[in-house]
Amino acid sequence: MIVISMKEKKAPISEIFCSWQGEGLFAGEKQIFVRFSGCNMRCTYCDEPASREKGKELSISDVISIIRKLSFKYKTKAISFTGGEPLLYCDFIKEICLKLLKKKFIFRLETNGTLPENLKKVIKHIHHISADIKFPSQTGVDMWKIHERFISMCGKKACVKVVVSLNTPISEFKKAARLVKKILPETNFFIQPESGEFLKKRNFSAYDKFYREAYHLKGARLLPQLHKIWNIK
Ligand code: SF4
Repeated sequence: MIVISMKEKKAPISEIFCSWQGEGLFAGEKQIFVRFSGCNMRCTYCDEPASREKGKELSISDVISIIRKLSFKYKTKAISFTGGEPLLYCDFIKEICLKLLKKKFIFRLETNGTLPENLKKVIKHIHHISADIKFPSQTGVDMWKIHERFISMCGKKACVKVVVSLNTPISEFKKAARLVKKILPETNFFIQPESGEFLKKRNFSAYDKFYREAYHLKGARLLPQLHKIWNIK
């Protein structure tokens, strides 16, 4: 008998763990976080070591086995693909979804919103997408057109997040709010204060200057990263 061994796909994983979601629409939901290493962006405020680390090469079966163990131990079926930038590994994610879908897992994606072609490959399997809009002052590059395309592709599966510091140019923020109004006026638009700055000053009202520029959006919410306040991962 001839046995043909197919080489299993691998991806660099920084960590897989269970915790409470501290951002956005699903804050307070217990999730299994699959954090991929590596990122295609370099944001000035990035405090995520996974974006620069190499990570550990894990196979799809390695990841599924860890997810199943964590799901059983901590009683949750919600999975968050995060990073770094998870869409760099869209084929890998797609296979995980296909293998776990029948087991009633729920798939959420946290992305920087800059890889629409990769999103296309996996969107069918993802239940919800948290898509960022990155400002030129944060990345050094103009991504408006790409974000527009990305968010249009997400449609009703998306909520949008922008990270702001007190120095963020209001003109950039307004442009993001206008873009969301044009494409997805009903969606949630999360204004997230940069955690380093916010935790140092704890001046929540100072960020109202951004909320005021988005009050015309039904889904505008000012929400800091709650897991940092709760002091959990
Ligand atoms: S997109 Fe996210 S992970 Fe990548 S550099 Fe920016 S903040 Fe860090």
